[in-house]
Amino acid sequence: NIHLMWFRSDLRLTDNEALYTACKNKKDTVLGIFTSVPKQWKKNNMSHKKAQFIYEHICSLSKDMFKIGIMFYYYEVNSNSVLKKLIVKFCLKHKVNSVFYNYQYEYIERKCDIDIENKLNINNISMNGFHGSLLFNPKKILTKVKNTYQVFHSFKKKIISKLNVTKFFIFPKPSRKKLNLVYRCRVYSFKFPRENFDKNVFPVGEKNALFKLKQFCLQKIKKYFLYRDYPALKSNSFLSPYLSIGVLSPKQCFLTSIEKEFDFLDNKFVFIWINELIWREFFKHLLNGYPILSKNKSLRKWEKKIVWKNNMHFFKMWKKGKTGYPIVDAGMKQLNKLGWINNRLRMITANFLVKNLLVDWRLGEKYFMSKLIDGDFSSNNGGWQWISSTGCDNVPYIRTFNPIDQCKKFDYLCKYIKSFLKELIHVPIYCIHNPGSCMCIQKKIIRYPIFIVIHNIEYKKFLKLITLAKEYE
Ligand code: FAD
Repeated sequence: NIHLMWFRSDLRLTDNEALYTACKNKKDTVLGIFTSVPKQWKKNNMSHKKAQFIYEHICSLSKDMFKIGIMFYYYEVNSNSVLKKLIVKFCLKHKVNSVFYNYQYEYIERKCDIDIENKLNINNISMNGFHGSLLFNPKKILTKVKNTYQVFHSFKKKIISKLNVTKFFIFPKPSRKKLNLVYRCRVYSFKFPRENFDKNVFPVGEKNALFKLKQFCLQKIKKYFLYRDYPALKSNSFLSPYLSIGVLSPKQCFLTSIEKEFDFLDNKFVFIWINELIWREFFKHLLNGYPILSKNKSLRKWEKKIVWKNNMHFFKMWKKGKTGYPIVDAGMKQLNKLGWINNRLRMITANFLVKNLLVDWRLGEKYFMSKLIDGDFSSNNGGWQWISSTGCDNVPYIRTFNPIDQCKKFDYLCKYIKSFLKELIHVPIYCIHNPGSCMCIQKKIIRYPIFIVIHNIEYKKFLKLITLAKEYE
C-alpha cells in the first residue's frame, strides 16, 4: 500500500496521529506533502512573519522526514479549486491508496477537505482525518442537548472531567528504512511576502520547540499564575506560534506540564497554564460547532445592529501605537515589531480599539492577524469577540479595561513601556501613569502624543451603542 500524509497545521513528526497511523505498517510506503495557497493566505490576512515561520518549519520538516525515510513533496497552487485537483492528481500519479491528515476547523478549509474526500472516494482512495490539533474530538464535548458549548465555564468543567479520566498517549516519531538518495530540499520560496522574525525568541524546528516547552515547564510554570500578566517579566511560554502551525500538539503541552505534578487540579500553579490550553481548545470547538464564525459574523445576532463609528484616523493611530496611552502604544509597537504580545496586552489593545475608539472588532481582528506570528483564526476571532462582549462571554455586565489602571497594575515601573517607547525613557513614572496631565505639560520636551480620546467618556458611548443594539434581540 502507498499512503500519503498531507501536512497542514501539524508540522511535526512526534505526536502526529495522522502520520503515526499512516506509518503503522512498516511494509507500506509513505509519502509526505505540504501545499500552500498564497491567495487564500492573503484572504486570511496571514502575517508575513507567520509565512516565514511556516517556511522555515517546512524546510526543517522536510529534512526531518528525509531522516526517517519519508519522501516529502511541496506544491504551491493558486486557489482551493486547483488544490483539490492537485491532491487527486498526485494520488493517482503516485498510486496512493489512502490519505492521512489532521482536521482544520475553518469553514473554507473544511469544505475543501470534504470536496477532496468525495473526489478521492470516487477513485477508491480513502481520506482519514484526525483531531491532532486538539485534546478532544469536538463531537464528544457537547452540552446535554448535543450542542457545542458557548460558555467557557461549562466547557471547562466538561474538559476537566475528561482530562481526569483520559489516558493520553503520545504518538512516537515514526521511523522507516533510510532513503537511498541524497537529500535535496524540495521547498521553494513562497509566492507570498515573508518577513524575518526573532529566532532568539522563536527558534526554528520541532526539537527546539520541544526543548522550549520542557524548559518552560521546568522553570517558569510555577510562577506563571503570579507573573503571566506582567509583560516586563516575560513569564509566558511563548509557545503560541508552534501551537498555531502544529509544531507542538496541545497534548504534548498538557502532558509535559503535569510530568511532575500529576494532581494538576489541586495545583493552581500548573492549572492556570492548563486553563489557557483549555481556552485554545474552547475556541476551536466553537469554530467547529458554529461555522458562522468563519463568515465574519458574531455569535450574538444583535451584534450586527451595533453602529460602529469606524473613525479611520483613530484606527491608524492605534495601529501605529500613537493613541497617547503608553500601555496601548507600547503593546502595538511590540506587536508590529515582534509579531507577538502577551494575552494581557492583546486584551488591553483590543479593548481600547473597540470600547474606546468605537471601531468594529473585525478591523482589529484582521490587523492582528496581519501582524501576529502566531495568528490563529479561532483564538484570534474568539479573543476579539470576547473582548468586544459580542461572543461567548456570558458576564452580565460589559467589562472594560481602563488603560491607565492597567498600566499601573501590570507595568508599574514602566519597564516594559520604556523598552518600546524610547521617547519616554527619561520621563518619571508618575507622568507615564498620568498621561493626560503631565505629558501634555511636557509635550514639547518628550514629544509624546496627547491621548486621542478620553477613556471614560468613550466607554460610556460604547455602552450606549451596545444597549441600542441589544434592543433588537
Ligand atoms: P501562554 O500564556 O504560555 O499560554 C499557553 C498556550 O495557551 C498559548 O500558547 C496558546 O496556545 C494558549 N492560550 C493562551 N491564552 C489563550 C487565550 N486567551 N485564548 C486561546 N488560547 C490561549 N492566540 C493565538 O495563538 N493566536 C492568535 O491569533 C490569538 N489572538 C488573540 C487575540 C486577542 C484579542 C486575544 C485577547 C487573545 C488572542 N490569543 C491568540 C490568545 C493569547 O493571547 C495567546 O495565545 C497568548 O498570548 C500566546 O502567548 P504564550 O504562548 O506565551 O501563551
